Amino acid sequence: MIKIQNNQYKVIDAHLHLPWQDEFSTTEKKLERLQKEMRNNGIDYGILIADSILESNIGNNEECLCAVSNVNNLFLVFGISPIERLGEQLLYCEKLLKDNKVVGIKLFPGHEDFCMNDPRIKDVINLCLKYEVPLLIHTEWNSEEYPQYSHPFFIKQLAQSNSDLNIICCHVWNPRVIESLKLTQEFSNIFYDISSFCMGKQFFREHPKTLFPSKEKATEYLRYLMKICSERVLFGSDYGSLSIAEHLELVLEAGLKGDELRTILYKNANNIFKLGFPNC
Ligand SMILES: [Zn+2]
Repeated sequence: MIKIQNNQYKVIDAHLHLPWQDEFSTTEKKLERLQKEMRNNGIDYGILIADSILESNIGNNEECLCAVSNVNNLFLVFGISPIERLGEQLLYCEKLLKDNKVVGIKLFPGHEDFCMNDPRIKDVINLCLKYEVPLLIHTEWNSEEYPQYSHPFFIKQLAQSNSDLNIICCHVWNPRVIESLKLTQEFSNIFYDISSFCMGKQFFREHPKTLFPSKEKATEYLRYLMKICSERVLFGSDYGSLSIAEHLELVLEAGLKGDELRTILYKNANNIFKLGFPNC
């Protein structure tokens, strides 16, 4: 439960998924659960990220599009795979971009077998540039999933050679946050979403030797981020796998000033995804 009640700040959760658990058997049930979770935690708006593969328990693009179309508080990020059906996906994504139904595109290096210097991602980047939407990248330093594919070195190269491209590093290479930030923080077109900073009690029970940060450590990472680039940090939770409440608690308890809270919880996501809400 949230210890500090958030009555004061509007919140956009910039990293949401439909819950994957088997008990939610249809997209409707998944959406209902997500909406309930958002309501319970006072989340005003959310960015729903679709999976890049067709068969996914967090929903593919079509399923997630259907979910966001049924409510007025969710926006879609299109998940794309450069590995197969790329041409087909690009066409579908562009159609949705033209209709303003997509606010960003996400690549999942590490989850999938490609690296961020792969020439096949060029067309994806071009689509982001053409429609002025950010490119989200899965950057998590999880040793089981080829973290080197989204090594900060490649993201730095990408930011350097595409200065008009806004890049969102999802998970900020957790747990190797600080060393990765040092390689990328100078680029004003690189943004960071803090989802997965709170892995949850069960994870720590099951992985006592994990390098993922404790709450104290995660607070340290968050404060470092806010100190070096508060205009480029996004609140995100990675719900359905992780907890919105724990991520919100982390932010609300980090001792940030009112302006900083408004920035991370709302303003930055509103701006980068061009949601068009007033920045109150
Ligand atoms: Zn995620």
